[in-house]
Amino acid sequence: MGAAYDGRVTVSLDDLPLRDDLRGLRPYGAPQAPLPVALNVNENTHPVPESVASDILDDIAVALRDVNRYPDREFTTLREGFAAYLGHNLQAENIWAGNGSNEVLQHILQAFAGPGRTAFGFGPTYSMYPLLTQGTGARWISGVRDSDYSLTADDAAAQVRAADADVIILCAPNNPTGTPLGLDVVEAVYEAARGIVIVDEAYQEFAPRESPSALTLLPGRPRLAISRTMSKAFAFAGARVGYLAADPAFIDALRLVRLPYHLSALTQAAAVAALRNAPTMLSMVDEIVEQRDRISATLEALGYTPHESWSNFVLFGGVTDPAATWRALYDRGVLIRDVGIPGHLRVTAGTEAETTAFLDALASIGSAA
Ligand SMILES: *Cc1c(COP(=O)(O)O)cnc(C)c1O
Repeated sequence: MGAAYDGRVTVSLDDLPLRDDLRGLRPYGAPQAPLPVALNVNENTHPVPESVASDILDDIAVALRDVNRYPDREFTTLREGFAAYLGHNLQAENIWAGNGSNEVLQHILQAFAGPGRTAFGFGPTYSMYPLLTQGTGARWISGVRDSDYSLTADDAAAQVRAADADVIILCAPNNPTGTPLGLDVVEAVYEAARGIVIVDEAYQEFAPRESPSALTLLPGRPRLAISRTMSKAFAFAGARVGYLAADPAFIDALRLVRLPYHLSALTQAAAVAALRNAPTMLSMVDEIVEQRDRISATLEALGYTPHESWSNFVLFGGVTDPAATWRALYDRGVLIRDVGIPGHLRVTAGTEAETTAFLDALASIGSAA
């Protein structure tokens, strides 16, 4: 018998035979801290309503009785639920799901990127795109946005044509800037691309009601996929459920790379029950949008420069020393996000009380420069 492992670190990461293309990378690292007001990772800070929670628990209890068996590998009931929720004549064959939309994006990149291939997006954008891309052995190419983070169809198409990537990821509205994306841009990018085009609509439920989803563009575009998540508007981040809509052939490609039974029976049961209660689960969206707009208006009054947002967060500039302001808020019990954009910080719209706590704390530490 060998000696018991005492848990001491004996080597550094550099000493292990890590893949060369992963050396020097840093893992996703939004700071996690148990502060009273956590407005840092764009969660829905409203808890799941009590009536829905007990409905979900009933379904989980039923699923638990069969948990000795593997779950439905095709999660058919859940796919039917997502198809019904999304509308647009989508059927279960058009739907895929995973443990968060991050896993769904990973499936796409595993199937369509990988070693020797490339993925492309317009920075600044979601920090997981490059990491997921590099995780599959592919290379990330970053395009650029206008100074207000917007994109025009002509410029976006020209950049996409030049990059000639295997996978293009459009974040609409964009994280971390909140910027809306016109469907004319999606159409132009699709025409300019030879590869897969993903529209990540993680925040779509917070956009103005009348603004069309890229789902309207799916017919006749087999290289297009629209991803969504239950982590934001649905107040379901801890359950880890994301999904996408695409051509059935696209879904077949994802079956090649997923792990067998990747969605647990308990996750499927919880998500099906949550979807059944979608109107109640989404009832706080209007309230969150109201708090988002209140944040923008108050930030402006305080002398900061909030960017237009169609999401549940606000990116604001005019911060002289983001690290110092972040820390001062932290010391007042308020956690927001320094996303690494010079002169900027990002805050999630919380409940009315949380939003007030943030705005009061920010006002108390002095005005913008
Ligand atoms: C939060 C977020 C997601 C959701 O990730 P999950 O894995 O579903 O929790 C996806 N895309 C973007 C741009 C996000 O900000």
